[in-house]
This record gives sequence, structure tokens and C-alpha cells, in this order.
Amino acid sequence: MIALKGITKRFGEHTVLDGIDLSLERGEIIVVIGPSGTGKSTLLRCINFLEHPDAGELTVGDLHVDAARPGKDDILGLRRRTAFVFQNYALFAHKTALENIAERMIVVEGLSKNEAHARAREILERIGLADKADAYPAALSGGQQQRIGIGRAMAAKAEVILFDEPTSALDPEWVEEVLALMKQLAAEQQTMIVVTHEMQFAREVADQVVFMDGGRIVEQAPPSELFTNPKDERTRSFLRKVL
Ligand code: ATP
Ligand code: MG
Repeated sequence: MIALKGITKRFGEHTVLDGIDLSLERGEIIVVIGPSGTGKSTLLRCINFLEHPDAGELTVGDLHVDAARPGKDDILGLRRRTAFVFQNYALFAHKTALENIAERMIVVEGLSKNEAHARAREILERIGLADKADAYPAALSGGQQQRIGIGRAMAAKAEVILFDEPTSALDPEWVEEVLALMKQLAAEQQTMIVVTHEMQFAREVADQVVFMDGGRIVEQAPPSELFTNPKDERTRSFLRKVL
């Protein structure tokens, strides 16, 4: 399971995350929504220590970390147990689709190049891009690049995949294929935390929707409840704008 307790993050005087508690069981999918600047990206980034939290505790699988005082192996441990899908894909421009997926297996898991490439080919099959193995990112559509970004996360066999607005940089024509791949992962019981503005995706796929505002979780509920019967005025006001 994944558990966050009291996660707090300040940038100077600005408290961006103000004691976030969140937990999910294996196979669960949480969608995080909320206004711009409310700390959604920072929250995801704190889970794998792309940002260092100032306080709180993190549990990912069998690893428990005091976020303010991580031990020597804790940060690496968190990074091994999590995978991140970025808004802008963050692929290596000078590596092929296959190499982008294989890279972490070689560097982090220590697989041989042959083993890593064999596993990367299986993933390319699963994401429907087997024919693009040797293509460089610049030769792929935005949707294909993001599917490679997700394939790379799949290759990590992480406890949880963290998605930060995975479709918001895409031309509208590529959004559906990326959401379809995410739904496929959800059906395979991949644990995920997804920051997105795709409310239809949230309705269909999320077990829980979390509404954040001002660095706090204002409200959390299954989508059927949160979208139809939001309890807090801030949630209602946000949903009026986006639904
Ligand atoms: P958006 O919906 O626009 O992506 P968000 O909810 O993801 O917003 P964050 O990116 O987490 O918001 O930012 C939360 C707040 O923290 C913002 O006020 C932002 O300016 C601030 N912030 C984020 N990163 C840094 C940083 N590295 N240094 C200083 N302030 C930061
Ligand atoms: Mg963000």
C-alpha cells in the first residue's frame, strides 16, 4: 500500500503542502483535481523525492520513510518503488523508443542490454507501438511519445505510477489514445495517482477523487459521490468551472 501522513512542503515562506494525508491500496486509482498552483504537482514530486518534503511520513510498499529525515537508502528506495509520467513526456531525445523504455531497467535494475531490450519489446507490444521500436521521439506524435513515457513507467514495475497531467500538453487528437492506455493499466490493477483535468476519465476509472485547494485536501470521495454531491463550497465552485 501507499500512505502519506502529514506531508508538508514549503518554498520559503509559502506553505505549498500543508499536512497531506492520503492512502491507497494496491490496485487503487486516485485522481487528484484542483485549481492551478494548489500543490498537485508538488505532492506527486514529494512522493518520489523530486522535491524534499519538510515534514511527514511516506510508506510505499515495504518501505517507510521519515520524509524530513530520509535515511541513506530511502530516496533511492522510493524512486525504485515509484514511476513518474510527466506532462511533457521527458523522453531522451537521442534514444529510440526501445532504448527509452529499456534505460531504467539497465541503469536501475542492472539488467543486461539484451534482457532489457527483450522486456522493452514486450512493453512496446502492450502499448501498441512495436513497429516504432527504432524511432526517435522527434519522429513520433505527441500521443505516441506519451505512450512511450507510460511504457517506460510500466517497465519500472513500480508499486505506484504517478501521472502529472499526462494529456494536457497533447493536441486534442492524441488525448484519447493516451487515456485508453491508462484505462488499460487501470484494468490491469496498476496502482496509480493521476493529476488530471480529464473529468470523464476520473468518473470512469478513479476509485477515489481528491479535491485539493491551498495545499490541503478539501474533500475526498468516490467519483459518483464527489461529482454529484460535493460537500465543500470550494469543491462545488471548482466543479462548476470544469464540468
Ligand atoms: P498546476 O495546476 O498549474 O500544475 P499545481 O497544483 O500542480 O498547479 P504546483 O506546481 O504544485 O501546483 O505549485 C504549487 C505552488 O508552489 C505554486 O504557488 C508554485 O508557484 C509553487 N512552487 C512550485 N514549485 C516551486 C519551486 N521549485 N520553487 C518555488 N515555488 C514553487
Ligand atoms: Mg501541476
